[in-house]
Amino acid sequence: MSLAHGYAVRTNTAPLEPFTFERRAVGSNDIRIEVLYSGICHSDLHQARDDWGGAEYPMVPGHEIIGRVVEVGPSVTTLKVGDFAGVGCMVDSCRHCDACDHDLEQYCEKGPTYTYNSHDRNTGELTMGGYSDHIVVEQRFVVKVSEKLDLKAAAPLLCAGITTYSPLRHWKVGPGQKVGVIGLGGLGHMGVKFAKAMGATVVMITTTPEKGADAKRLGADEVLVSRDAEQMKAHANSFDFLLNTVPVSHDTNPYMSLLKRDATMCLVGVITELDPPLMGGTVIFGRKHVTGSAIGGMAETQEMMDFCAEHGIVSDVEVINIKDVNQAWERMAKNDVRYRFVIDMATIKA
Ligand code: NAP
Ligand code: ZN
Ligand code: ZN
Repeated sequence: MSLAHGYAVRTNTAPLEPFTFERRAVGSNDIRIEVLYSGICHSDLHQARDDWGGAEYPMVPGHEIIGRVVEVGPSVTTLKVGDFAGVGCMVDSCRHCDACDHDLEQYCEKGPTYTYNSHDRNTGELTMGGYSDHIVVEQRFVVKVSEKLDLKAAAPLLCAGITTYSPLRHWKVGPGQKVGVIGLGGLGHMGVKFAKAMGATVVMITTTPEKGADAKRLGADEVLVSRDAEQMKAHANSFDFLLNTVPVSHDTNPYMSLLKRDATMCLVGVITELDPPLMGGTVIFGRKHVTGSAIGGMAETQEMMDFCAEHGIVSDVEVINIKDVNQAWERMAKNDVRYRFVIDMATIKA
């Protein structure tokens, strides 16, 4: 066992506060990682506030983890002490179901074990995430991080990165296609970078016109302000694929009119009801598809990290002291983040 220092919430209205807890001893397949940077995902706030139900406290959030390997168990073959490592949203799965057999641990039929707010499959204990100084994770759920990457800006790849990379790959986005990314936040800005790197024509679809210049800098070819009915009309029936990262219930119907016949809108943000509901006519007339996608499997997460190293892709981050983490959450809730907060975990020692 080792003593970990982190930040936790204790109720669904409480702020994050310093919290000390035990990590398990390094088992034969385990890797102990000193956390260097931890990204702040909107899901952290959703779970801390119990927006999705089932929250358990104390909760140490954080699933965009970059660190240095400080100890490995005797059976570990993937990484060695001193390597840079990444941990995302999952730390375990059943490993035997059809999804796990296909490297799709995120769709494990028994449910993956999440990095926090989940129960360890062996001990039953509550898992604790990356807003902490170190973490112990089994090797299948740890990726190798290239030294070429700017580590602080690489942290958000572990969730925002893979969550956008995976659907763009699955629906085969590429040259000759017009792709729209809805919502320019942590996920959205990675969606723009990936879709561009994959060769598509990219349109940033935003509710915030002031983000237009940023969207172009990030790689968007065009900006579409979704609150402007004229602009929406001009882009009707023109998109091959839409990646919808909006985190809250919203009217999805207007976006459906943007799709070409047979084209697809993939939801990655909202998991609660769509309000107002999606109208049947939006999919019937034009044989359109609405689908969804959750993070990505571990093999694909490694592929994405390697793609980022090859293409020089990282997130645009604002690095914070952990003592300012509550203000960062408030700003994220107010849509005031350009485009991901990352905690410098060294500040927990100060
Ligand atoms: P974020 O940084 O807060 O960005 C969300 C963006 O959505 C905002 O910047 C805003 O962009 C837009 N938006 C916000 N409210 C809106 C509204 N009412 N109507 C239309 N657009 C709105 O959040 P994030 O970290 O990217 O996370 C996005 C969502 O993905 C969260 O719900 C998170 O829980 C979820 N998530 C899912 C997965 C998965 O596996 N599927 C993984 C990670 C996160 P504009 O200003 O440009 O409009
Ligand atoms: Zn996340
Ligand atoms: Zn499984």
